[in-house]
Amino acid sequence: MQRNSVKVRFAPSPTGELHLGGARTALFNWLYAKKCQGSFFLRIEDTDKERSSDIYTDQIIESLKWLGLHWDDPIIYQSGRIDRYKFYLNRLLEENKAYRCFCSKDDLDKSKNNEYFSYPGTCRNLSSEDIKSKLNQGISFAIRIKIDEGKTEFNDLIYGEIKVDHKELDDFIIARSDGSPTYNFTVVVDDHEMEISHVIRGDDHLSNTSKQIIIYKTLKLKTPKFAHLPMILGSDKKRLSKRHGAPGIQNFKDNGYFPEVILNYLALLGWNPKNDEEIFSIDQLIDKFDFAQVQKKGASWDDKKLHWLSGQYIMNLSSQDIFDSLRLLDSSWGKGSDISHLINIIDALKPRSKSLNEFISQSKYFFTSPDSFDQDESQKAWPDNSTTAIVTLSYEYLKTFESWNSDFIEKEIKKFASENSFGAGKVIMPLRLAVFGALNGPSLFEIMHILGKNETLSRIQTALSKFPLK
Ligand code: GLU
Repeated sequence: MQRNSVKVRFAPSPTGELHLGGARTALFNWLYAKKCQGSFFLRIEDTDKERSSDIYTDQIIESLKWLGLHWDDPIIYQSGRIDRYKFYLNRLLEENKAYRCFCSKDDLDKSKNNEYFSYPGTCRNLSSEDIKSKLNQGISFAIRIKIDEGKTEFNDLIYGEIKVDHKELDDFIIARSDGSPTYNFTVVVDDHEMEISHVIRGDDHLSNTSKQIIIYKTLKLKTPKFAHLPMILGSDKKRLSKRHGAPGIQNFKDNGYFPEVILNYLALLGWNPKNDEEIFSIDQLIDKFDFAQVQKKGASWDDKKLHWLSGQYIMNLSSQDIFDSLRLLDSSWGKGSDISHLINIIDALKPRSKSLNEFISQSKYFFTSPDSFDQDESQKAWPDNSTTAIVTLSYEYLKTFESWNSDFIEKEIKKFASENSFGAGKVIMPLRLAVFGALNGPSLFEIMHILGKNETLSRIQTALSKFPLK
C-alpha cells in the first residue's frame, strides 16, 4: 500500500518503565498513523546517560509490543545520532545564528534575580578574537541560540492558537558545556530528519514547542504540526504519578489484563466520540479517532471504569478464547481436568473476573478442597452446632438427589429451607463455606453443579468434621 505522508513518532526517554501517560501518547500517535495510513516510528531518547537504562528501553519495547502498538522501520536511538546533532550545531555557529557562551555557573548565578533566570546576553556579541582567546585558554562553553525580537505562533491541533512573545524567552542553551545537545535541539533535528509530519505528545511539552519552532525556523526547516494531549489526573485532580499508585503497563500485563481493554481505556483518557459510547474495538478506534474530539481538560484516571470495561470485554469473549489465554499465561491451569469441566468453570467465573489472574485465583477451589477459612466469615456462616444440625440435614437431603444441575439443586434447597422454616441463608451460607471456602464467588448451586455430586458431598462431610471452628 502506498504510504501516506503522515509520519508520527513516539519518543520515550528510557528513564522509567512505560507508564499510562506514555502509553496513551503512543496510542494516539499510532491511531492517527493507522487512520491516515501513515507511519508510526519509535525513537528512544537516550542521550541522558545518567538517567537512561537499557532495562527501561527493553521494558518500554516489551510493553508496546504487548499492547500491539507496532512501529514501522527500525528503532531510532538518539545515542547513535550525536554526529547529526553536531552537524546542525556547527551549521548554526557558522551562520552566526548560535554562539558559544563561556559564562561560568557563578557568572550566571549573579544574573539571577529571585523570581526567574533570564540570560543577560553576555556572550552574544563576543568578538572573534575574544572567542579565540577563550578557546585557547580552554574555557568550556555551552552553545546558545540567538533569538531575535518577535513572536512565535502556532496552531496546536488540540489547544488552538498559541502565541509566545520572544521577550518571555532568552537565548536558551542548545548544547551543554560537555558538548551534549539539549532535548529541544535533538528533537528538532530528529523530527526533521525522520520527516515527522505531526508531533503528538503530552501537554507537559507545550512550553518546549515554541522553542523548538524557533530552532526549526533558525535552521530554515519545515515545522511539523503539533498536537498536545491533556494531562492525566489522579483522583485528587493532580497530575497522575506513582504517588497515586497508578500501575505501569507491565503491571497490567503481569496481572492478566487484556491489552485490548487497556487500549480501549487509554483511548478514553482525553478522547471521546461525543456520545455515550465507551466500548471500542481497535478497528473502531482507528476509524473514529480524531483530534477534534480530544479535549484540553485533564482526563481523570478511574480504576472503576477500567474494571468495568474489562468485565464487559471478558463477558463478550467466548469461554474457549478465555481458556486459550489462561493456558498461555499459566500452562498448568486446570491440568488434569477435562476441557468441558474447565469451560464450565470459566462460564461461572466470567461475570466476576476482570483479569486472567482473577480467573486463576478464583478457580482454586474448583480444583482442590478448601483448606483455609476466614475466621469472621466462618463465625457468621457457621456460628455453632445449630448450623451443624442444619448442614447435616441438608447433606442427607442432597444425598437423595437423582438429578444434579444447578436449577434443580437451587429449587430443591430452597424448598428444603422453607419446608423446615430455615431462612435460605442459614442453609446456603454454611454450604458455601463447606464447598467453596468463602462466602463470595459464583452461585452455590452452580459451584455444586460443576463440582459434581460426589465431590460436593465429600466436601460437606469434611466441613461437618471441622465446623464450628474453635
Ligand atoms: N522524550 C520526551 C519524553 O519522554 C518526549 C519528547 C517528545 O515527544 O517530543 O517526554
